[in-house]
Amino acid sequence: MGLYVVTGSASGIGLALTSALKDEGHTVIGVDLSEATITADLSTHQGVTTCFTEIKTLAKEGLDGFIPCAGVGGFMGLNHLVIDVNYLASTVLTQLCLPLLEKKNGRIVMIGSNSMAMPGLDEAFIHMLLAEDFEQAHELASKSGFEAYPSSKAALCRWMKRKAVLWIQQGVRMNAIAPGMTNTAMTNAQRALSPELDAALDHFAESSPMGFAATPKMIVEVILFLLSEQSSFMCGAVVYADGGHAAVFNPDSV
Ligand code: NAD
Repeated sequence: MGLYVVTGSASGIGLALTSALKDEGHTVIGVDLSEATITADLSTHQGVTTCFTEIKTLAKEGLDGFIPCAGVGGFMGLNHLVIDVNYLASTVLTQLCLPLLEKKNGRIVMIGSNSMAMPGLDEAFIHMLLAEDFEQAHELASKSGFEAYPSSKAALCRWMKRKAVLWIQQGVRMNAIAPGMTNTAMTNAQRALSPELDAALDHFAESSPMGFAATPKMIVEVILFLLSEQSSFMCGAVVYADGGHAAVFNPDSV
């Protein structure tokens, strides 16, 4: 049975994934702010470093999989955390775990979002993240009205593609999932911001071809597939699991 690291393991998609992997008999090193194997604040350099030190201790023989699920949502006025947790901690920890993943031909699944298929991406911001110019990225993201979330997910998936084609030579297979709206603590927090946003999220879910939001389990099934041998020829792919929503916005993107 395998050894996996899941960040954001205390809630939502990360929690459902942790449970599903454990149900399959695997061991999971969960990482979160609390209620996890490793308690760490991934918004800080210190938190990421400490987290990796603990992962190394717990995974001396290597890792079968790494899934960075920890993140904060859009619309919350938390652009700085979107940069530091959703993008920076995910990419830095993934890179740090590479030698451990190499030992066991491990798999990585990055967590994108179908919001990156919708209009309004900021290419300058995406390039700042990919160029690791975090000072400029923070400056741009601090501007009033700037919404960092969709562009940060686009940057994360572009980062994934660039690394996936290199790392497969070292036996590590990486792909990404782009979930559509999924009912979790993240969307509950967004809904709690205002009745208007609550109604807008209902409308958003209903406007997808399938007409409803996902459960975490629906997303986890796809992540499990991307971690499994059944996806053995997949590398650098972004799989949309969003009830068809991205296909509405981007019918000509292939
Ligand atoms: P969630 O809020 O239920 O879970 C996120 C977890 O991340 C929480 O347990 C939280 O404590 C942890 N976390 C946040 N900041 C952290 C920090 N600084 N250090 C350590 N842990 C931290 O959210 P979710 O909906 O399960 O989201 C999981 C992933 O899925 C995120 O990357 C999110 O962007 C992505 N996603 C979610 C949706 C959705 O509609 N819910 C859609 C697309 C993508």
